[in-house]
Amino acid sequence: MQDQIDAMRAKEISPRELLIAGQLRPARSGAVLEVLSPLNGKHLTTIADAGKEDVEAACLSARAAFDSGVWSRAAPAHRKKVLLQLADLIERDALKLAVLGVRDNGTEISMALKAEPMSAASTFRYYAELIDKVYGEIAPSQSDVLALVHKQAVGVVAAIVPWNFPLMIGAWKIAPALAAGNSVVLKPAEAASLSLLRIAELALEAGVPPGVFNVVTGRGPVAGEALGLSMHVDVLAFTGSGGVGRKLLEYSARSNLKRVYLELGGKSPNIVFADAPDLEKAAKVAAYGIFRNSGQVCIAGSRLLVEAPIADEFAAKVAKIAATMKVGDPLDLTTEAGAINSEAQLSRSLGFTSRATTEGAELLTGGSRILQETGGWFMAPTVLSKVRPDMEVARNEVFGPVLAVMPFDDEAAAIRIANDTEFGLASAVWTSNLSRAHRMVQAVRAGVVHVNTYGGSDLTVPLGGVKQSGNGHDKSPHALDKYLDLKTAWIQL
Ligand code: NAD
Repeated sequence: MQDQIDAMRAKEISPRELLIAGQLRPARSGAVLEVLSPLNGKHLTTIADAGKEDVEAACLSARAAFDSGVWSRAAPAHRKKVLLQLADLIERDALKLAVLGVRDNGTEISMALKAEPMSAASTFRYYAELIDKVYGEIAPSQSDVLALVHKQAVGVVAAIVPWNFPLMIGAWKIAPALAAGNSVVLKPAEAASLSLLRIAELALEAGVPPGVFNVVTGRGPVAGEALGLSMHVDVLAFTGSGGVGRKLLEYSARSNLKRVYLELGGKSPNIVFADAPDLEKAAKVAAYGIFRNSGQVCIAGSRLLVEAPIADEFAAKVAKIAATMKVGDPLDLTTEAGAINSEAQLSRSLGFTSRATTEGAELLTGGSRILQETGGWFMAPTVLSKVRPDMEVARNEVFGPVLAVMPFDDEAAAIRIANDTEFGLASAVWTSNLSRAHRMVQAVRAGVVHVNTYGGSDLTVPLGGVKQSGNGHDKSPHALDKYLDLKTAWIQL
């Protein structure tokens, strides 16, 4: 497989256009954005820089397609057939899609292969299979009335997604939205648009009618804002930072009160008690739970809470693993942590690290830019010990390869530190004590609490956060609820 990847790595990528009403077209203004490769910092290609008028055209095309009924009123069995075909096409092109995505966003290919096209294909298959099993209800109302509760597509769904796992996160929104019969306008991140544009082309090939799935690329504050303010969008599904999430709520309030679902950031605690069943395994999983994709993972276990008597020894174990992880060429199948997506993100991670050491944290490993000679954006996996809960690196999301290790004295302290955050996305607890495990699952405020593992998940379970990590859920049958409205028919007999 490495030979095939190497054959693709240098292929020129032609400039990419918007996909509106089934047609590829440039932005009306003709503007483009340059895409730089995280692998070497050089020009990769350009994407269209959509303006407000392009976004409005995409929304109108989505609205017209929805109102025509060509997809929204098609039998669920038909939508299922088309989306299963799309899943097959994604799988057919999986390697090409993965390489394209990696050249754009820098994730290591070993992870991208699993988490990107294959996961997107499974997601389309999951919601395709689900949609012809969704029933309405007959309400237990009075006997001279027949009261029906229908589940109907909401209309036009806008999806705005980040750059870390564009296909996986994109599919988590697009697949249930399309399966339910909605039309979609997708805005990928500036730094990870290429593979999603290709998926939209595959959707056309699979038989999704023109106008049902549109893609507008461009700048968040322009194209994203226009989507947020559009009067033609009924639901806005977002994954990204809390700052942008706040803006989307404002856009909704200033326009048509569209429903806004937010999947935001995290500062997830990975809590290790001294009675963990296997401390060697816990150390390895803790390292991989933060450093894969160079920490650019929303559920990354970025706070490692360790019971005080074993804290120093455990931190040293994790640091040793971190120091031997293979960081580098994202297109090498043996690489364990790829590039940082942008130079700005690299500087941000370095800045957090140096401020943490100034505040008194101890740098056990990493802390610097590496592989500078490649021109790419790489950072050594970084472990900081003796971090206090009030330090910036313990409170703010870095979204880079930086782990903050914090000791705790007992279970109550572990819970207090774990919950002392504005976020509530993921978490884990390592213990052999079954009662303690259950107590921790109840006490930690997060969308998921892993026990004796970190990050395990599949499509059957919802992913979402509490507190400022967002609202609503991706994955599982629950995600369909975001894209279906309830409508009552009250029939007097
Ligand atoms: P970001 O918020 O900067 O950007 C996300 C998307 O919003 C991009 O498409 C961007 O163009 C768009 N955008 C930016 N400004 C906008 C505006 N004013 N109006 C409308 N859209 C705008 O996030 P990012 O840097 O791409 O991704 C990293 C963040 O995403 C982290 O906080 C991470 O935790 C979060 N994330 C969360 C999850 C989850 O499931 N909870 C998953 C992955 C990433």
